[in-house]
Amino acid sequence: MPWASSATQETVGFLQKTIELSKTAHAYLFVGPATAGTMALAKEFSQALFCQSEDAPCHECRHCTNIGKNLHPDLLIIEPGSTGFIGIDRIRRLIGDVSNEQIKELEKRDEDIPPRYYAMTSPLEADKKIIIIHGVEAMLGDTRDILLKILEEPPSKVTFILTTEDESVLNGTLGSRCQILRVKPIAFDQVESSLIKNGVDQELASHLSAITGGHIQKALDYAANPSLLNNMYSDYMFMPNMLFIPIFERIQLAEETAQNYRGAKALVLASMDTWMLFWRDAIISSNEVNIDAPMTVKSELMTRDELKKMGIAVVEATSAIRAIQKAQLALQSNGNARLIIEDLYMNLPLRIQ
Ligand SMILES: [Zn+2]
Repeated sequence: MPWASSATQETVGFLQKTIELSKTAHAYLFVGPATAGTMALAKEFSQALFCQSEDAPCHECRHCTNIGKNLHPDLLIIEPGSTGFIGIDRIRRLIGDVSNEQIKELEKRDEDIPPRYYAMTSPLEADKKIIIIHGVEAMLGDTRDILLKILEEPPSKVTFILTTEDESVLNGTLGSRCQILRVKPIAFDQVESSLIKNGVDQELASHLSAITGGHIQKALDYAANPSLLNNMYSDYMFMPNMLFIPIFERIQLAEETAQNYRGAKALVLASMDTWMLFWRDAIISSNEVNIDAPMTVKSELMTRDELKKMGIAVVEATSAIRAIQKAQLALQSNGNARLIIEDLYMNLPLRIQ
């Protein structure tokens, strides 16, 4: 089976060749925007490295399917945690250099904790281990230094695949320790056809490529997990409902949201991303603008005409988007969640019934 990744033929061809010639590097650095599907490419490259089939990656064998489900014991994926950073202890732990106290700290922060000595111990099912670090720009300088130390004398049975959106990472030493590969974003219709190649049916593929703005990995996540998509829709519908919620009830709601935020920061911040999609839809379907772009939400929940009838002015929608962005920033700089969310809810448009 050919590669399903949306990366260009040139990129895939290069990776394929390194495998065929058994010339894989100890570390790769994929540079490109998240919409280019660097993560999807990193995972598919992992499949190609582990797959025993003649036309690897076959997408059918145990290695391929387990990687697809993030269940392969010899593949570790490290991504920024709820803080937005990749903490130093997570990288230290790869080589075992971490105390029990630091582990407790990690648990408190609700981050995935890599198995201790992961980079030093033997693979279980494949002939090597792969560690994907998605978004190395999310590591502070001293964390990057630890990673550099590991890459200076790389463990023999580990391949590192790093990704970054930030070109400036290339200026540091990290760039010189890795095989660099630039991954270009692909056109919208290619996202759709790439989703179809990954087994998503035509209608859903076209919807997902539209609502994720061509973000291939997000679209794949939604396709693989329909409950994610349903959660996204219910977050979305929270905004049109909010229009009719009186101020005193909003204050109470803010308390609830703030509590959710304390438990699951990343989830609430992601919900806020979705809220902005509603206001964006309100703008494109308003009489003032009327842009012929697809709506984010499925028509069973709300049609363009229904949204139009709410009579939301472009200026209202843009100020809502600004208020949400302001709240996200304030939350990320550790402001008082309750006050920030209360302020946001008070500033969202209100319709008196
Ligand atoms: Zn396979």
